[in-house]
Amino acid sequence: MQRKRNRLRAYRAKRDFTITSEPAEDAATQAGGLSFVVQKHWARRLHYDFRLELEGSMKSWAVPKGPSLDPGDKRLAVHVEDHPISYSSFEGTIPPKQYGAGKVIVWDRGTWQPVGNPRSGYRAGNLKFELHGEKLLGQWALVRIKGKDAKGEPWLLIKHRDTFARQTGAVSVVDELPDSVNTPARTP
Ligand code: MN
Repeated sequence: MQRKRNRLRAYRAKRDFTITSEPAEDAATQAGGLSFVVQKHWARRLHYDFRLELEGSMKSWAVPKGPSLDPGDKRLAVHVEDHPISYSSFEGTIPPKQYGAGKVIVWDRGTWQPVGNPRSGYRAGNLKFELHGEKLLGQWALVRIKGKDAKGEPWLLIKHRDTFARQTGAVSVVDELPDSVNTPARTP
């Protein structure tokens, strides 16, 4: 538990939990594989927070343009602080003047399966994995391109070529499916 608290130190330091409704702590570990979530976040700039459960917390990247199903479309993914696993179900509005102020929805969720050893891959800056989400499926990679500097630690989120990939020029998945996974599907 001590180690988990340490992993979440940066997360906790940025937030005033007497004001924001984001979770301060983690609930007990969830069963049923490693979870992933993509949260659409209207902060100062719209971005998509891509989070993979690993070693007891959610490893997190902020993806300004969101994921793309086109393997040629490498999306910048800025590595950010670990979040609690219970953050993955958070939807709501972070109050004004608080860190990350703005609306958050759960854009996608599901489980992920590492290809190879995820701990060494994460440390080496080369994570390969398969997503089993409601919107995102198939093989993906997260690849670190540079060390941490004033602008953060840049990685790239890349779709691998498989049956779930899409051609260049196809409509983007973030535009086609913009809503929360909790929003009931619209009937035509
Ligand atoms: Mn965010």
